[in-house]
Amino acid sequence: MTAPCTYQLHIHLRQTVEIRIGALGLHRFPAGDYIYTGSAKRNIEARVRRHCRREKRVRWHIDYLLHHPAASVVKTTLSSWAECRLNQSTAGEILVPGFGASDCRQGCGSHLKYIAASSRSG
Ligand SMILES: [Zn+2]
Repeated sequence: MTAPCTYQLHIHLRQTVEIRIGALGLHRFPAGDYIYTGSAKRNIEARVRRHCRREKRVRWHIDYLLHHPAASVVKTTLSSWAECRLNQSTAGEILVPGFGASDCRQGCGSHLKYIAASSRSG
């Protein structure tokens, strides 16, 4: 068993919002579900806990999105897959090119994927 090094945040956005994502600029995020794939070489659980906290200094692209009151993390999962492999195997639409992909060398385009409004029932 390899220790998990990759995490996915399942994010629910209650309403369509416009958020400035640092240097990426202002972007429109339709209401619905998103999956963000990230990795941490150590202390992955601390990293995931940090993402679930709203009060923090904005550091990563994902922080700008999660800082918005309409956004919440509904589920987190850990994986031992490589970050980009897991991201590329996740179905979804890229809304913001470059989001979370500053360190990506695998051509993912974005580490945030929009899963659409109707993927969750209830
Ligand atoms: Zn990637």
